[in-house]
Amino acid sequence: MKTKILLKEADIPTHWYNVMADMPNPPTPPLGPDGNPVGPEALSAIFPEELIKQEMSAERWIKIPDEVRDVLRLWRPSPLYRARRLEQALNTPAKIYYKNEAVSPAGSHKPNTAVAQAYYNKQAGIKRLTTETGAGQWGSSLALAGQMFGLEVEVYMVKISYEQKPYRRSMMHTWGASVYPSPTDRTNAGRQILEQHPNSQGSLGIAISEAVELAAGRDDTNYALGSVLNHVLLHQTVIGEEAKKQLELVGDYPDMIFAPCGGGSNFGGIAFPFFADKAAGQEVQLVAVEPTSCPSLTKGLYAYDFGDAIGLTPLLKMYTLGHNFVPPGIHAGGLRYHGDSALVSQLHHEGLVDALAVPQLETFEAGVLFARTEGIIPAPEATHAIAAVIREAKRCSERGEPKTLLFNLSGHGHFDMSSYDRFLAGELRDYDYPEEAIKESLADLPQVKFPQN
Ligand SMILES: *Cc1c(COP(=O)(O)O)cnc(C)c1O
Repeated sequence: MKTKILLKEADIPTHWYNVMADMPNPPTPPLGPDGNPVGPEALSAIFPEELIKQEMSAERWIKIPDEVRDVLRLWRPSPLYRARRLEQALNTPAKIYYKNEAVSPAGSHKPNTAVAQAYYNKQAGIKRLTTETGAGQWGSSLALAGQMFGLEVEVYMVKISYEQKPYRRSMMHTWGASVYPSPTDRTNAGRQILEQHPNSQGSLGIAISEAVELAAGRDDTNYALGSVLNHVLLHQTVIGEEAKKQLELVGDYPDMIFAPCGGGSNFGGIAFPFFADKAAGQEVQLVAVEPTSCPSLTKGLYAYDFGDAIGLTPLLKMYTLGHNFVPPGIHAGGLRYHGDSALVSQLHHEGLVDALAVPQLETFEAGVLFARTEGIIPAPEATHAIAAVIREAKRCSERGEPKTLLFNLSGHGHFDMSSYDRFLAGELRDYDYPEEAIKESLADLPQVKFPQN
């Protein structure tokens, strides 16, 4: 029996899979401040034309440019593993597989889209990209991708992570990017937040506001987003396409697929290529896993909301905790976003995607068990999927069900060791579900005329 299931470089997918082609209902449109759907023009101040086309395309397959596949070759295809030692430790009849996206140079799935976005911006004559980063995974991925195509990269990093993850900062600097702790005094958005909350630890939403403001104000500068948007999820579908081929090689097909869900990109990346089968009648359960302290899919409202804290982005229909919601300082920085991808949200709303929330301590317990059995130390974000898989594998033991479980190991935790230190020292705790803060933040949802279904 195989442990690593490997593909050849020639097997790197040639096309991205666009889930919009198979959704039972058309995707909800992004809305402008007047409550009307925004056209491509509204996005052209910050995105290149090709990415805007992908954002709105209903074509099922979209060709991956050769220049992009050439860079992906540096680490793709990523290996699929059978987690035999974890299965043994759990004494489960379930088969557990995981796709290892930690093998990219930045250590996560994020370079899959960073490379594509840098390419299309370069093609459009752009000189500089601005972006936000939470845990530093996205900023380092874009810094890497910018370097590959000769673009300057300016990163607004959530302040708490800037302080907690100095080595992510060092990586970005090594790849030639500039990094600022957000909120900064470089933008109106940042100054406004600092006036109201001088000790703000920052949030992804605030950092997005800063990066968007700067990109909108300069012609040679665009903005790049690491998650949430349709084109980002599109670029991540190489994960699921490869995983499908790899499972075919060993004659397997998953009953359930799990991925951590922050903005939804690695979840969409691994799950959507299997959604194509689900839409055609195949039984497969797709489970997005989020933290109980930032529970957008499980406790949020399905409504139009801003993607950022200040309200600069178009309105997206999504499960949201309110754009003003600032989650507790949990150690899975990549999962501290108030909303979710519109595509994942719509499919969840229609009952085609499931969601599960797990508390922080359970995720670190899962991460440590995974490290001690499979060897790889997972990113705190990825431990959410592992915790959910462990719950399911235990259920399989109780019921004697030999299910096939697949999850996405979205990244490694080599830059998160201070979080592991704190967990091992017994210093971490579960945050209560922040009911009051969510209620307050949801009261500030924008009022939209567009029909809310
Ligand atoms: C950013 C990140 C996530 C969450 O982002 P998604 O867009 O939901 O995928 C999960 N895992 C890792 C390792 C990350 O860096």
